[in-house]
Amino acid sequence: MSRSLTHHGPLRVAIVGSGPSGLYAAVELLKKNPGAQVEMFDRLPILGGLARFGVAPDHAVRRRVTAVYERLALASGRYRFHGNVEIGRHLSHQDLLAHHHAVVYSSGAASDRRLGIGGEDLKGSHAATEFVAWYNGHPDFRDRSFDLSTERAIVVGNGNVALDIARVLLLSTDKLRATDIADHALTVLASSKVREVVVLGRRGPAQAAFTAPELLELESLDDVDIVVEGSVGALARQVRPEHALRLQLIDEYARRGVLGRPKRLLLRFLTSPVEILGQERVEGLRVVSNSLAAQNDGVIVAKPMDSVGIIPAGLVFRSVGYRANAVADLPFDEARAVLPNELGRVVDPATRQPLTGTYVAGWLKRGPSGGIGANKVCSRQTVAALLEDAAAGRLAEPAELADRFDRLLESRQSALIDYRAWKRIDRYERNQGAATGRTRVNLSRMEDLLRIAR
Ligand code: NAP
Repeated sequence: MSRSLTHHGPLRVAIVGSGPSGLYAAVELLKKNPGAQVEMFDRLPILGGLARFGVAPDHAVRRRVTAVYERLALASGRYRFHGNVEIGRHLSHQDLLAHHHAVVYSSGAASDRRLGIGGEDLKGSHAATEFVAWYNGHPDFRDRSFDLSTERAIVVGNGNVALDIARVLLLSTDKLRATDIADHALTVLASSKVREVVVLGRRGPAQAAFTAPELLELESLDDVDIVVEGSVGALARQVRPEHALRLQLIDEYARRGVLGRPKRLLLRFLTSPVEILGQERVEGLRVVSNSLAAQNDGVIVAKPMDSVGIIPAGLVFRSVGYRANAVADLPFDEARAVLPNELGRVVDPATRQPLTGTYVAGWLKRGPSGGIGANKVCSRQTVAALLEDAAAGRLAEPAELADRFDRLLESRQSALIDYRAWKRIDRYERNQGAATGRTRVNLSRMEDLLRIAR
C-alpha cells in the first residue's frame, strides 16, 4: 500500500464526473492511499452520472451499486462533492492542477454516434442517447419532445441500449409507473400508440451485442409477441462459445412464434438502414439486406446485397453507440472519441508522453463499452497508474495551498451543490416517490433541483 507521497501534505486528487467510473476511482484512491483527499466535480447538481441518466428505469436496482460507493467515499471523511460545477467553464484544467496533485477525468460519453445516412435530421429521427436521457429526467433533455402517435418504431442497433428502448416503448403503463421513470416521460408513454418495435441488426444473431440477461428479460413483456427474422445462415449462427446462450435465447423466441398478443417486438437481423424517408417527418426507413463474410482476421462483416425494401414507421432511433465529447485543454482522439492514454495516463498523442498529473477512467478512457461493473477494473487500473506516479515523484506539487481552493470555487460558481445539498435532493425525490407509491420521483428541471438543494 502506498502512503501519502508528497512533501507538503496529503495527496490531493480532483475527479471530474460523478458516474460509476469516477466513484470507483474515488473509493479505490481513498482505500489505497489513507491520506488522500478527493474532490469530485459534476456539471449537474446530481451525483451519479450514467448510473442515473443511462440505466433504464426498470433496472433501477443497478443504480444501487453506485449508491454503495457514494457512501463508502463519504465514510472516509476525505471526499467532497461539488455539483453544478463545469470544468472548462467554472474551472479550467489548469485551475484544477494548481490545487491538486492529479486530475482524473471520468466524464463518460455523453453524445451519440450518427448513422451517416440521409434523413437523420427529420422530425421523428432521434438518437437513443437523447431518448434515454429524456425518460430518465436529465435536465438538458427535459424539454425534448417525442411523438409516439405512430404504430411502429424502429431502433437501429443490436446493443443493450436498443433493447432498453424497445422495452420502455413496449412496457405497459402500470409496469412503467412502478419504476422511477421521469413523470413527463410517463405521461407521454401512457398515451403512446406504438404497438410494434423493430430492432434492426446489420449482422446476425450470433454477432449481436445484446447480453443474455437482457435478452432473457424480454420474457417479462407479457403482452408482446417476439418475432425473429433473418437469423439463418452459417455465419449468422457462427457463435463464440461465451455467446452461445444469446443465440439459444433468440432461437427460443423464434420457435415460440406469434402468440396473438397485442404488441410486437421484431428482432430483424442482416438488415442495414440506407435512408430515413419522409417529407416533414419520418415516414419509413429504406433498408438493405446483408450477407455476411468472414475477413482474414476472423471478424464477420455485413455486405449489402441487392435486396432493398422499405419499413413504414413514424419513429427511428439510432442506437449505434455513445460518443464522448472532447475535454477543454486536453488532447482528444477523434477517431476513437477517447482521451489518448496509456493505462489511464493521458498522453500527448504525438509523443505518447504522459501529461503530468492527468488521468482518465471509464468510457472516456476506453470507449463506450461495458456495463457499470466494467468500470471498476478500468478505474482501478487508472488509480494504480496515478499512485505509481505519485510514489515515483512524477506528480508536480500544486502551486496553490489547499485552503485557497474553496475561495476560488465560490468565486466562480455561487450556486454550489455540496454533498449535503445533493442529499436534500435525493431525500426529497424519495419522499415524493413514497407519497405516490413509486420508488422515487426524479426532479428534472434545474430550477427545481437548485431550489430543493437550498
Ligand atoms: P453497443 O453494445 O456497442 O452496440 C452498438 C450496436 O450498434 C451494435 O450492434 C453495432 O453493430 C450497431 N451498429 C454500429 N454502427 C452501426 C451502423 N452504422 N448500422 C447499423 N448498426 C450499427 O452499444 P450500446 O447499445 O450503446 O451499449 C453501450 C454499452 O453499454 C454496452 O457495453 C452495453 O452492454 C452497455 N449497456 C448495458 C446495459 C445493461 O447491462 N442492461 C444497458 C445499456 C447499455 P456491429 O456489432 O455490427 O458493429
